[in-house]
Amino acid sequence: MLSEFDLIKQYFVRPATGKATLGIGDDCALLTPSPGMQTAISSDMLVEGRHFFAGEDPRRLGHKSLAVNLSDLAAMGARPVAFTLALALPAADREWLSSFSAGLFALADAHGCELIGGDTTKGPLNVCITVFGEVPPGRALRRDAAQVGDDVWVSGTVGDARLALACCLGQLSLSADELSAAASRLHTPTPRVDLGLALQGIAHAAIDISDGLAGDLGHILERSRVGATLNVDALPAGPVLATRDAALRRAFSAAGGDDYELCFTAPASARDAILAAGASVGVAVTRAGVIEAAPGLRFTDSGGAPLNLHLSGFDHFSADQ
Ligand code: ADP
Ligand code: MG
Repeated sequence: MLSEFDLIKQYFVRPATGKATLGIGDDCALLTPSPGMQTAISSDMLVEGRHFFAGEDPRRLGHKSLAVNLSDLAAMGARPVAFTLALALPAADREWLSSFSAGLFALADAHGCELIGGDTTKGPLNVCITVFGEVPPGRALRRDAAQVGDDVWVSGTVGDARLALACCLGQLSLSADELSAAASRLHTPTPRVDLGLALQGIAHAAIDISDGLAGDLGHILERSRVGATLNVDALPAGPVLATRDAALRRAFSAAGGDDYELCFTAPASARDAILAAGASVGVAVTRAGVIEAAPGLRFTDSGGAPLNLHLSGFDHFSADQ
């Protein structure tokens, strides 16, 4: 039998990377912030049956649990430093733990983010990570910083994760190749950390697209007390979604969640700088809307004609979910 402490030692304790002054093993970890930097902190919890299907591949789950947290740092323009892991497990299954930690640490190492502590308990499968990052004072990409006249930008492509989910739920069918391409967006999202860092000092406001662009952009609009018009046909639909009809393309690119791209705003004078920032990190950036004084989010087609789309972000507590 694997004891709680053996489990932690075997699967989660690794040689220190020097990011933490004191890592796993004491009552608290100790972090020494770089001189003059602010600490960006965010938590995200993944619950079996809610955020992932029962029986989910543990390696993918390890990746996604950290990816969604790193995505929050990316959306703030913060550099990852460290994270904690609170884990509820139904059983101490060696094979599961080994794959989960491999997926987790592969992504952690790619971003130089050190696991510095956590908690482990028996219970229904639940993964809660808290990430710590650094950002120079005044440079964080806050939701309340959009300004009237700003362009609205979207990174990468959106909608394929939602398409894969719809297929998994039996709502539509995809070929095996299409499903495998779209499902990689759903199961192993790429947090846009380098892009967030490159946008520091150029973009005004940013958010990561976890619940769908319309809903997530809505948070920027609300916090910044502005509105926006979005050209739905200009949105960068994922390669699989791009082959579908306009109605599905519009719905899933405007409101599909789980792609973990960034939506951000920047002044029109920064267009060249935004394109250069995207090119410098190898991520496409697409301009798809404009921030306006009138509150609310309006949609148009590519010709500028108003579209009457009723879309909103995913809400865990709304009546029909
Ligand atoms: P405490 O009882 O003081 O909360 P624990 O006995 O729960 O401490 O944990 C012992 C050490 O192992 C602590 O440093 C804690 O941060 C770390 N730890 C526990 N679970 C995990 C985990 N899943 N991943 C990383 N570190 C963990
Ligand atoms: Mg504890």
